[in-house]
Amino acid sequence: MSLKIGSHVSIGKGLLGAAEEAVSYGANTFMIYTGAPQNTRRTPLEQLKIEEGQKFMVEHNIDDIVIHAPYIINLASYKPHIYELALSFLTTEIQRTQALGSSYIVLHPGSYTDKDVDYGINRIADGLNQILHPDMNLFVCLETMAGKGTEIGRNFEELAQIIEKVERNEKIGICFDTCHTHDSGYDIINNFDGVLDEFDKIIGLDRLKVFHINGSLNPRGSQKDRHANINATEENPRGKDYIGFDAIYHIVHHPIAQGKPLILETPWLNNTTNLYKEEISMLRGGKISNEL
Ligand code: FE
Ligand code: FE
Ligand code: ZN
Repeated sequence: MSLKIGSHVSIGKGLLGAAEEAVSYGANTFMIYTGAPQNTRRTPLEQLKIEEGQKFMVEHNIDDIVIHAPYIINLASYKPHIYELALSFLTTEIQRTQALGSSYIVLHPGSYTDKDVDYGINRIADGLNQILHPDMNLFVCLETMAGKGTEIGRNFEELAQIIEKVERNEKIGICFDTCHTHDSGYDIINNFDGVLDEFDKIIGLDRLKVFHINGSLNPRGSQKDRHANINATEENPRGKDYIGFDAIYHIVHHPIAQGKPLILETPWLNNTTNLYKEEISMLRGGKISNEL
């Protein structure tokens, strides 16, 4: 049994603090933003307690972690200053990811804003062609998106088009987000195997590297991107999950998820309480509780 499951944790106390937080939830993987997700200010690597963190991780059997690029990065932007920032930030973020010992950096492909989807796809691919190096030891994992606004990556075809245009696309992976694929219209509840078949035909299952495991506050196809807690009912103050425990449990225990980092990005209550520990234990053990 090699379920590798964890959640987003804070880098505020360095890699050591992040790993300690993950272990406190019963996790054996975790995901971090290298600083605030909504800005590009970053703490110098020397202050991130990387050695102590890695030692602690070895002691707790954590060998695979995920970095998430900040969501303000937009490689599809036509505005020079936004695009240049995305290029320079990602270049240093790749160095940080390697220094932190992670093999995966998750990236929202981008939003085309006032242009169109083809413009955005070309712009993203051009950017990745400038950033990717042959000596990189990691995968840039494009995330499957919910399709809100002008987001690119709302279906497997858009992701495949980006990949085709990237020269060193052996460095490109995919992060499959359960909330986003559900919100963009894929029936992961009743037909996860069918969705995987489609993924395989269009992108290739060998690209699938990371999962984001989230419920959704909205019905399939809503294109909203609002995450729900796992198995949450109407009584949950954060709202009801439309995907449901059985579907998420099936995905988490599906052979395709074996050994891959499965990362919860489920909601907190008032920024003070999360349910990661309960959610991880439910998903590991299959304890079918009706409500959290
Ligand atoms: Fe994301
Ligand atoms: Fe996600
Ligand atoms: Zn999301």
